[in-house]
Amino acid sequence: MEATITYRPDAQKTPGLFDRILTREVLLDICQHVTGQSRFRVVKDRSTYNRGRLLLVEYEGMLNYVSLSEASINGRNSSLQSVPTAINMFYADQRLNKRLCYYFIPHIGNAFTDYHLFVYRLLMTAGVDFLNIGNYYQQSILPYRTIDDLIIDRRENQTSNSSNNSSYVSKTSDKIQIYAKTYGASKYESTLLAVAISHIADRPIDLFNICEQDLTRLPQASMNTIENLGNISMHYTSLFLDKREYLQQTDRTELRSASYLYNLFNRLGSKKCALCGCEIPEIIQGAHIWGVAQISRTSNLDDDTRFNHAVSGHNGLWLCQNHHKLFDSNIIMLDNDGFVRIKDSLVTDNVAFIRNTTFKPSLDFRVMSDEFKGYLARRNETVDLIHSQRLAV
Ligand SMILES: [Zn+2]
Repeated sequence: MEATITYRPDAQKTPGLFDRILTREVLLDICQHVTGQSRFRVVKDRSTYNRGRLLLVEYEGMLNYVSLSEASINGRNSSLQSVPTAINMFYADQRLNKRLCYYFIPHIGNAFTDYHLFVYRLLMTAGVDFLNIGNYYQQSILPYRTIDDLIIDRRENQTSNSSNNSSYVSKTSDKIQIYAKTYGASKYESTLLAVAISHIADRPIDLFNICEQDLTRLPQASMNTIENLGNISMHYTSLFLDKREYLQQTDRTELRSASYLYNLFNRLGSKKCALCGCEIPEIIQGAHIWGVAQISRTSNLDDDTRFNHAVSGHNGLWLCQNHHKLFDSNIIMLDNDGFVRIKDSLVTDNVAFIRNTTFKPSLDFRVMSDEFKGYLARRNETVDLIHSQRLAV
């Protein structure tokens, strides 16, 4: 029996591109990797529907979606963009016997930067078989086994990449959260993160579409895929919607805004307590500096201004539950220079406890933006800093 290989000869912008890339030799190699034998026939798909860098190999009732690498790998996103297209088509295909593969065509450029490796691990986690990675990369690459593996790797990956503004993954004790950028190249990454996380999630997943000015959301094909996965709930969040909810409250002392958390991620990176360094995502919270209730009590502000202060990424810190509570109760304070202070009236034993669990005597200077200092000063207008002492470490 021979395999049937189907591909579109034309790329979206380059006629005949795939005819040039997919030489007889390359097709034979793909056929052997996918089917374990060498006989195949080629069908050229003349439809104009964009399939990305995808070919199909049908053999013995099995349908293999093969996503192809770029021939010239330069940007961090170049190899990533067409894969979610293949994933979406794969999930939209109702046939049962199917598998998703990735094949490196002969290429120039570095296909194995830290970011590429992160993407390959995501793809493996999503169930993608790499047909010939061993020809190009000698170390072993493994799928993520747990969501914690993925969060830690993501964190390291994001620290090394100065241009943030991408998607974030976190978890609480009962849910996993994906804050998914829906704009530009990030939408591909968001789709891939969702599919990968769906495969290893040990609890339900909330995916927040972080919308830009208007109500952009992930592309329909990606939304369909995510719906098919079965364990992800989609939420739509935007400043517009968050503001409407905020303004509907009569007292405006609370703000439940995924946009606020997203802004904190963007400014501070992954969850890490600013006072003890704890990185257990389940117990790290976004803590307002100039509190939402305090903002709403301030006169001479219009609603828009109030809301903008309440969701600003500069108006917050990541704190563990203990430090958040200590901070909100003004048992621990931060002076206007970012030094930690402890309330005077605290009994000695409790001071000792705070000293033993608070490892940072002052905030990291990178946190201390001008806006942040402004919020700290507003907070401290109502905080009794006089009757407190600096935490000596
Ligand atoms: Zn802490």
